[in-house]
Amino acid sequence: MLGMKGFFNQLLRIDLSKKTWTIEPIPDSILKSYLGGKGLGSYLLLKENPPHVDPLSPENHLIFTLGPMADTPFYGSSRFAVFTKSPQTGIYSESYSGGKITSSMSRTGNDAIVIEGRSNHPTFLEISDEGVVFHPASELWGKDTYEAEEAILKKIEKKDSGALVIGPAGENLVRFAVIEIENWRSLGRAGIGAVMGSKKLKGIVFHGKKRRAIADLPLLKRLSKEFKDRVKDNPTVHIYKKYGTPMLVSIMNTIGAFPTKYWSKGTLEGWEGISAESLMEHCEVTPSACPHCFMACGKVSRVKKGRHQGLRIMGPEYETIYAFGGLCMVKSIEEIIYLNDLCDRLGMDTITAGNLAAFAIEASGKGKIKDKLSYGDADAIAEILKKIAYRKGVGEILSEGVRHAASVWGMEKDAIHVKGLEPAGFDPRVLKGMGLAYATSDRGACHLRATFYKSELSGQINPDQIKGKARLFIDYEDKMTLFDGLILCRFYRDLITWTDLEEILRAVCGLPLKKKGLKAIASRIINLAREFNRQEGVTKKDDKLPRRFFREVLQETGKTIQPDELEVMLKEYYQLRGWT
Ligand code: SF4
Repeated sequence: MLGMKGFFNQLLRIDLSKKTWTIEPIPDSILKSYLGGKGLGSYLLLKENPPHVDPLSPENHLIFTLGPMADTPFYGSSRFAVFTKSPQTGIYSESYSGGKITSSMSRTGNDAIVIEGRSNHPTFLEISDEGVVFHPASELWGKDTYEAEEAILKKIEKKDSGALVIGPAGENLVRFAVIEIENWRSLGRAGIGAVMGSKKLKGIVFHGKKRRAIADLPLLKRLSKEFKDRVKDNPTVHIYKKYGTPMLVSIMNTIGAFPTKYWSKGTLEGWEGISAESLMEHCEVTPSACPHCFMACGKVSRVKKGRHQGLRIMGPEYETIYAFGGLCMVKSIEEIIYLNDLCDRLGMDTITAGNLAAFAIEASGKGKIKDKLSYGDADAIAEILKKIAYRKGVGEILSEGVRHAASVWGMEKDAIHVKGLEPAGFDPRVLKGMGLAYATSDRGACHLRATFYKSELSGQINPDQIKGKARLFIDYEDKMTLFDGLILCRFYRDLITWTDLEEILRAVCGLPLKKKGLKAIASRIINLAREFNRQEGVTKKDDKLPRRFFREVLQETGKTIQPDELEVMLKEYYQLRGWT
């Protein structure tokens, strides 16, 4: 049966090799079992991708999905997702972004867009409610992301259209290349931009007029209004609006969990220079919001003085500050903005870029490479980033990711990653629940699947507690997975309750589910991603942490995590997930 509310019940399949497209129905049973977003994306990836396919081959699928909340009035709903097999990790890969593009994508009338094959020459796609046009993009190949997006939108000249593009890094198959939107929004950790590059796909522009059918629109509007009235004065809202994610710099340094000097320390001397307060002092900062958001966590920052005067970006986010400020010890917020801008233009993930730059500095110190690099040298780091994007010199090795670089340089014991992906800026020796997160996340050492740092930082659970931690962790992970099935912004996680989720789902999809039913959907989605990775050869043995986290004590706090502590958390986690 077809026609579940909240969805278009439609999948668009595009074959870049044949330059053809088709429309296919999506059965209700799939949407009821998995919802949209992560559920639909994971279901399709598992179904479409043959096991062990080369991520950069035509056989790898690139799958964009929307959730039933997209282009609706509910807050935090302007988001979409993309799924593929990662060229960086060789396993499941997912990524989410917000922005105006969500409504442009939604109005094409598809719940999922599945892209397969490979074009012979550079192409960009125009996807609308009338179909797909394949445009030549040879003139755009080589352009940075800002130029490419502007050129694509200018060429199409349709009101309310939105575009996503890759930069030189994606074209050159850098294994952690991202997709960029609206200049500064990045998505695609673990190399989704390289998958686009392998398909010779420079960009996609979306436009259309279709609107999804909502089961009870008046109810959804009432829920939205009541929700905003209830939470708009919550301190979380104010702090995100005022400082955004850079507020974490001071918090993480205070507790000694700010990864510094390539994971050898937990605090950065001089962290004040890269804090949220420093950002406010040295830049003109304007809050910026995705559509349908009153939190406005985004910050458009314009450097006031110095050699980068006038440079303007959205950000930097905490993760970029940690990667370049902490790991590489660049202690100037303006220099971090400079490196952030470079990554955005080249189309590279800043977390991985910062980790690799710091790893290269370590390699330089050990005499493993000829390049003379030192901590805090922003210009040398900028050169490394350019070399990576264009695969020049040492960049050729680094462009393949930290796992590869470590094996070439005999530095496996030094490299920090899980399943090939570098962790975010939360040291698991202090926040032990993040150790469980990094070990089990379906895309490698990711902080977003459960965002469990929030629970440990807020005092909801003691960061050192081991026994019983997995139960609360799963509650977080389930809720975040539901958010990803509906595609809601994570920063609303403490404001949107389970009861809200029940009511939203009833209003949008007409599904009368209680928390138990919602958690069952989350479990099914998590199992899909796990099954994808199992097919790729991932086993429980791969749910581990880098040895340095067990062996190296953080001097400032005396903190470490022990293998048996991780083991206890993992055992509880597997038991509760039913993974025997
Ligand atoms: S909180 Fe930030 S990321 Fe989330 S919807 Fe609002 S502006 Fe976008």
